[in-house]
Amino acid sequence: MDFLQLTEEQITIRDLARTIAEEKVKPVRAKYDEEGIFPWDVVNELAKVDLFRTFIPAEYDGLCENGLGVVNMCLVTEELSKACAGIALAFAGTALGTFPILLHGSEEQKKKYLPQIASGKKLAAFGLTEPQAGSDASAQRTTARKDGDHYVLNGTKVFITNGGEADIYTTVALTDPKKGARGASCFIIEKGTPGFEFGKKEHKMGIKASVTSELVFNDARVPAANLVGREGMGFLVAMKTFDITRPGVAAQALGIAEGAIEEALKYGHTRHQFDQSILNFQGLQWMLADMATETAAAKALIYALAARLDAGDTKDVAHLSAMSKVLASDVAMKVTTNAVQILGGYGYMAEYPVEKMMRDAKITQIYEGTNQIQRNVIGSWLVKEAARLNG
Ligand SMILES: Cc1cc2nc3c(=O)[nH]c(=O)nc-3n(C[C@H](O)[C@H](O)[C@H](O)COP(=O)(O)OP(=O)(O)OC[C@H]3O[C@@H](n4cnc5c(N)ncnc54)[C@H](O)[C@@H]3O)c2cc1C
Repeated sequence: MDFLQLTEEQITIRDLARTIAEEKVKPVRAKYDEEGIFPWDVVNELAKVDLFRTFIPAEYDGLCENGLGVVNMCLVTEELSKACAGIALAFAGTALGTFPILLHGSEEQKKKYLPQIASGKKLAAFGLTEPQAGSDASAQRTTARKDGDHYVLNGTKVFITNGGEADIYTTVALTDPKKGARGASCFIIEKGTPGFEFGKKEHKMGIKASVTSELVFNDARVPAANLVGREGMGFLVAMKTFDITRPGVAAQALGIAEGAIEEALKYGHTRHQFDQSILNFQGLQWMLADMATETAAAKALIYALAARLDAGDTKDVAHLSAMSKVLASDVAMKVTTNAVQILGGYGYMAEYPVEKMMRDAKITQIYEGTNQIQRNVIGSWLVKEAARLNG
């Protein structure tokens, strides 16, 4: 469904990601899903063709000439996710870990870290979630105590994408625990920092090619120069980051849905029952029509929002980012479930990719804020709108 009006540069990026997805991701996706190991060989291929540069500004060795690179980030995530959402997450998780630096980092931080990420030699990750701080991200317990020209971090982050494989971690910790969320700050923490270790690695339902790990801080000494923004800005940095990256999760869901539709069409065309292609049955055609229509609607919202963000219009977008994620992830779950149905018993077998797509789709309704939390965000905005409409 290539109905978007893209620039020449965006078409080049999309086509490059599409080629890599076809040639490098599809052939190995089943292997990585089965083995659950991190796909460094594919990540190196992404780096080789400069895909990690696509959301990083030119002055920091990126390829993004103007704007925030959100359309580019979504295009790459979507194309890779058509083939494998788990492998795509090495890229998308890196974007999530990088946006706090892009949005709020100092010039020194940008000069130091962005070229390393742009080259694809170092991946990034974002650490917010803790055992007791999931949907209620404000219930942070990890602390960062100032000690001379360092901060000393203690605490544990859970469920961190790229955890253990990434080199650069943007992480939230409390510099003033008495103030709760308003006492949170964001730090850049490098792998290898003494006192910073990786804990439990999760076994998951889907996106098995992605690694999800604990980050454990035991008197980890982080240079004060690695504070992102100012003390107390950590929660704001996280929320502003999510405004930009939730369309990225939506693009991941979109790619999964598009991949599933493609598989359902390919299979349906060749599968014959009652002496005809199963695509002749109106029951399936209507199912596919809804799948295609809802996927197109999600795509339109994601890229309209991404273009607005790239144009620098990032104010009051939380509800739109939430809508893009809710819509695309709910569509992906529905589309992949229907794709399994269209393939019948074969859809349930690992031999065909749609059962993996269904397992992969589920996470897009959960991470970067569950869809219940997204609906809370949209609901709060609507209540404010109601007050505005009533003068
Ligand atoms: C594979 C994976 C990768 C992840 N990657 C990262 C990462 O890179 N970085 C990171 O920081 N985190 C990451 N997460 C964490 C993820 O963002 C959280 O799991 C998610 O925000 C939900 O938190 P929770 O799991 O604690 O669920 P809970 O908050 O315990 O929620 C349980 C249920 O209660 C519902 N609920 C909670 N509060 C409300 C409410 N106010 N209204 C209505 N319903 C509510 C939820 O929607 C959910 O259905 C990842 C998680 C997974 C599974």
